[in-house]
Amino acid sequence: MIERLQKFRENLKNLNLDGVLISNSENSRYLSGFSGSSGVLLISADTAAIITDFRYWEQVSQEVKDFQLYKQGPNLWQSIVALVQKLHWTKIGFEAATLTYQDYQTFCNLVPKNVQLIPQNNLVEHQRWVKDTAEIALLSTAEQITDRAFAETLPIIKPGIKEREIALEFDHQLRLQGAEGNSFTTIVVSGARSALPHGEASDKKVAVGDLVTIDGGALFQGYHADMTRTVVVGKGSEEQKRLYQVVLQAQELALQSLKAGLIGFEVDKIARDFLSQHGYGGDKFGHGLGHSVGLNIHESPRLAVTEQNPIPAGAVITVEPGVYIPGWGGVRIEDLVVVKLDGIRNLTASPKKELIEL
Ligand code: ZN
Ligand code: ZN
Repeated sequence: MIERLQKFRENLKNLNLDGVLISNSENSRYLSGFSGSSGVLLISADTAAIITDFRYWEQVSQEVKDFQLYKQGPNLWQSIVALVQKLHWTKIGFEAATLTYQDYQTFCNLVPKNVQLIPQNNLVEHQRWVKDTAEIALLSTAEQITDRAFAETLPIIKPGIKEREIALEFDHQLRLQGAEGNSFTTIVVSGARSALPHGEASDKKVAVGDLVTIDGGALFQGYHADMTRTVVVGKGSEEQKRLYQVVLQAQELALQSLKAGLIGFEVDKIARDFLSQHGYGGDKFGHGLGHSVGLNIHESPRLAVTEQNPIPAGAVITVEPGVYIPGWGGVRIEDLVVVKLDGIRNLTASPKKELIEL
């Protein structure tokens, strides 16, 4: 954790600020290790302070090593301002994407007139693009839990079971296998509904011949897994098997090409062009190829037509091509991978070579 703080301080040097206020809870957790939901960090070249309330004082002392605890009084903003004045900070950066306008106003009203509050973007997020060894280990565990939950869920997928019941079983298995929760609400869509990329699990009963897409993941020590598989109930039709193989080949092609230094849109284009050549262009693959994953389920950099940034070594990112045909159904296959200088390491082990027939 101290390495993360040191690196963050290196980046701070270029900003010409006395210090920064970190109020985003994922950024706070990343830098300090504190997993509570209420608290802020104040960081400068020689200060690392965490302010939180009574509920978390015990927890902070267990989780946080490199920050000095300042106990919050009755009002968080009064406590922050008291510390800022004690530190003689006059140029203070804050996270523009996190601090609400209401809190900003409170802060402005409480600080002396000579104190400047300067909005900052991606103060910590950019550092989080490259996952360190500890983060990769947690993401790998989260994905392994997801693999096991998926395997345990497959046997219950039979004609007559509701999508909602499949999602519930998957969630139950995630928890049994060690997840602290879900990465996001589990998606289960079947039959014609499998053409909904982010459809909610409904009361629809699964029927023979239905494609069933399951997209979900374990939350483990704050880190998110993300995995999608599409299976078929009973024997798959030739058309279903053919589409499945096209989506799989698009994914394999992207996985084989992906390595550090490629621009996000270039990787997206590899899968997108392949699907277009097979008649599945445009709206049939209407979302990006992938997104980074970490303390948040959707992070940058992304594999998408709009992504102009190179993917760094150490990024952990999904590769999830899909084809959606309204009224007929869809197929999506999603793996989570670590990007390396010379390729990738796939964290997902759930089978995918053939369309699984249940
Ligand atoms: Zn997903
Ligand atoms: Zn995803």
